[in-house]
Amino acid sequence: MTTLYTWVTSPAHEYEDHPERPGRLTELETRLKNFNIEKLEATPATRSEIARVHAPRMIEMVDLACSSGGGIIDYAPTFVNPSSFDDALLASGGTLGCARAVWAGAAANAFAIVRPPGHHAEPNRAMGFCIFNNVAVAARDLLERGAERVLVVDYDAHHGNGTQAAFLNDERLAYLSTHQWGIYPGTGRMDDAPEAKGRIVNVPLPAYAGDVCFEQISGQVIRAQVETFRPQAILVSAGFDAHWDDPLTTLGVSSAGFYAISKKLTDLAQEFCNGKIVFVLEGGYSPRNVANGASAVFAALTDTPFAPADDVSPHDEPDLTKILDSIHAWHGWK
Ligand SMILES: [Zn+2]
Repeated sequence: MTTLYTWVTSPAHEYEDHPERPGRLTELETRLKNFNIEKLEATPATRSEIARVHAPRMIEMVDLACSSGGGIIDYAPTFVNPSSFDDALLASGGTLGCARAVWAGAAANAFAIVRPPGHHAEPNRAMGFCIFNNVAVAARDLLERGAERVLVVDYDAHHGNGTQAAFLNDERLAYLSTHQWGIYPGTGRMDDAPEAKGRIVNVPLPAYAGDVCFEQISGQVIRAQVETFRPQAILVSAGFDAHWDDPLTTLGVSSAGFYAISKKLTDLAQEFCNGKIVFVLEGGYSPRNVANGASAVFAALTDTPFAPADDVSPHDEPDLTKILDSIHAWHGWK
């Protein structure tokens, strides 16, 4: 079976010198030919599909903001222009197409390369460069198609406050986020969701946490959650801004680290979910790092060797022992 990808670059969704821009994907485009993958043409999500996550009034407000000319709609800053509503529907629709094909067994696994990104978008508001929460819309869709438990793992450098908010009261959905502590949007403390222990798992990280830390998180935290929650599909919010030279953050991952965590997640999906895993692009503001990181994901999905770029982090990594111990204790894992 094939590895599927969708490609929604939204060339008209841009704003002056904003870092979330179409050019994020230009270098990646030249790498796609290196992989044995098949393209899925994205079709727009419908408003009712988006409404499984977002309030109808929020969808109307975004539509109105776009059709009336657009502008900055939150302090991140998040922008919209007259093209953005349709672009956001297409980003969610491409993600839905990938998730449905994998759930139905028509593809082995998939990567939805889409923008605008989604994980900061909350049920009642667009924020953090995100309009509709693509990964959450896809997770809810799998529930409609018979899935009983879906896990979203989010290794973007920022906390996916929107996904957490959407999943907070839904026992069928679990969320695990690694993110740099102390940066936008300020949420994602270990104890953010006491009513959802074991289901909503936050791993706040000190600056320069990199490949070694992510290896420990994969083995000790992600595996523990997968073993206890037993998801039938894993969706991944793949942001490449955890790279050590991303212009917006100060974590410490290299392209080898993106490969290692992506391979670990793909292996976990093989072990627990019949291989059903879909990666969805979130952030990453260096076109080079997005190209290297996405190539690492494709190598993991297609089980082909990955030659990391020469981009080892120059920083020493922090010791995560205390953080990982307290996460285990908080969630009641052995
Ligand atoms: Zn991010």
